[in-house]
Amino acid sequence: MPSEPNVVVLGCGMGGFTLSNLVSKRVGNSAVVTIVEPRSRLPFAPAFQWLVFGWRQPEKIQRAPTSLVKRKNVRMVSDRVEKIDVNERTVKTQSQTIRYDKLVISLGTEFAFDQVPGLETYSHNAYSIEGALKLRGAIDNFDGGSIAIGISRLPIKCPPAPYELALLLEEHFRRAKKEAEIHFFTPEPHPVPAAGSVIGKQVERLLNSRGIKYLSKWGGEGSCYLQVAKSESAFLKGAFLSNPPRLEFHPPRRKWFLEKLRLEKEWLKL
Ligand SMILES: Cc1cc2nc3c(=O)[nH]c(=O)nc-3n(C[C@H](O)[C@H](O)[C@H](O)COP(=O)(O)OP(=O)(O)OC[C@H]3O[C@@H](n4cnc5c(N)ncnc54)[C@H](O)[C@@H]3O)c2cc1C
Repeated sequence: MPSEPNVVVLGCGMGGFTLSNLVSKRVGNSAVVTIVEPRSRLPFAPAFQWLVFGWRQPEKIQRAPTSLVKRKNVRMVSDRVEKIDVNERTVKTQSQTIRYDKLVISLGTEFAFDQVPGLETYSHNAYSIEGALKLRGAIDNFDGGSIAIGISRLPIKCPPAPYELALLLEEHFRRAKKEAEIHFFTPEPHPVPAAGSVIGKQVERLLNSRGIKYLSKWGGEGSCYLQVAKSESAFLKGAFLSNPPRLEFHPPRRKWFLEKLRLEKEWLKL
């Protein structure tokens, strides 16, 4: 257990890595940065869609955080955090209890595929290395037909990613001379609302110009469809839908630490 103040960072994804890098540089030898992360190689999510089209191989888009771990004031714990005790100021992993002076929670999001029946079984997504590779296989075997790309509820991780995939798929099949009718449905009022309506309308025009059929405000803001049915061709966080799809509202799933943690005044939410 270090005697210096201990800054504990939970998760070494893009957020945890960046923060640990900055903090460990800033504090020098006056504090220790302890990172808790079970993965030894960290994937670069923006490149997942490149895997889908074979532009990258999985090993090229994952790296061990070697430069960070080499620092004298950084300690890596290869484990999963299971519990946070804000009163005791400790985190419990599968193998140890770690005391913290400052705690950073950067555990990312949790996908709730199970909340939409059939989604995991009958649809594809490019939100993980495994998902992207599976989708790549489906694209290789696709001989033409209709493709539905859907956003099931809001918010989603990386809102531009489904639009990027729709455009890349359209281009891919056009070049391959395969007929693909692409439908895009979303509860959003327009593409990528965080970027504003001007950018949104431009993206919508781009989709239209490529012949992608765009259905916004699908089922009302924040909703998602009830089920994903078996079909021969469906992609992404969306699916091959039963026709017509029924809609239902699902509560979003909260991450376990949000349910268990009492957020106190001193916590800074980023
Ligand atoms: C397809 C796709 C494309 C994207 N493109 C872009 C882009 O072009 N530009 C951009 O800025 N962003 C992009 N993003 C979004 C970006 O990847 C995320 O915003 C970013 O990864 C979030 O960082 P994070 O640290 O919060 O979570 P993550 O990067 O998901 O990291 C969370 C980490 O926590 C770890 N963890 C989880 N549970 C535990 C536990 N119990 N104990 C210990 N560790 C745990 C995980 O192993 C993981 O390493 C994209 C995302 C996707 C999926």
